[in-house]
Amino acid sequence: MQTRPRVVLLGKQGAGKGTQAVRLADHYSIAHLSTGDLFRAQAKQGTAFGLEAKRYMDGGDLVPDEIVFGVIEECLAPGGQLSDGFVLDGFPRTRAQAEELERVLGDRPIDVVVHIDVPREVVVERLSARRVCVKNSGHIYSVAKPPSQGWVCDTCGGDVIQREDDTPEAINKRLDTYERDTRPIREFYASSGRPLVTIDGLGDTDEVFARICSAIDATL
Ligand SMILES: [Zn+2]
Repeated sequence: MQTRPRVVLLGKQGAGKGTQAVRLADHYSIAHLSTGDLFRAQAKQGTAFGLEAKRYMDGGDLVPDEIVFGVIEECLAPGGQLSDGFVLDGFPRTRAQAEELERVLGDRPIDVVVHIDVPREVVVERLSARRVCVKNSGHIYSVAKPPSQGWVCDTCGGDVIQREDDTPEAINKRLDTYERDTRPIREFYASSGRPLVTIDGLGDTDEVFARICSAIDATL
């Protein structure tokens, strides 16, 4: 029986992580979860940590690590969303979170860490061209791929705008923070013996997806 992989996806904002995570989830029949999704799902079920996390998110605050891990532990329980394989997208964000994640995963740790590498100038260009639906941040367009009827979301009818923090200056600032926080995560996984693969994130999404799958398959 093939086990379903537990995958951490790393990559700059704009590297195509979200798109690839959705495809990986489908391909390997695993859960695709960003921490925001986890929090919302647990809050819906009314779990203690889920509701606590939701309070922080509703207030626009960062959810503290002990609550993040409370939610993750709830989801790792048998039958929970993380009880089998999964792809984590946008988490862990810091080395401390990576270490704590390793601890809560116990005897079934992360199988592979995939780093989608895209040069900074490419993601700055991509993100500056990005336009987002005000009603659902998952509805994403770009200057090159606008909605079909003016700047109105094809999916939900929300206005499609350029977010204030999608200026090159703001993007570069976020990328600095990302790089500062992420290098230690890669170092941690490398030093703890987890397979860590860097994928060339340039090219069309099918090509990048094929590269990621062959890298994951090689580790299973
Ligand atoms: Zn929309």
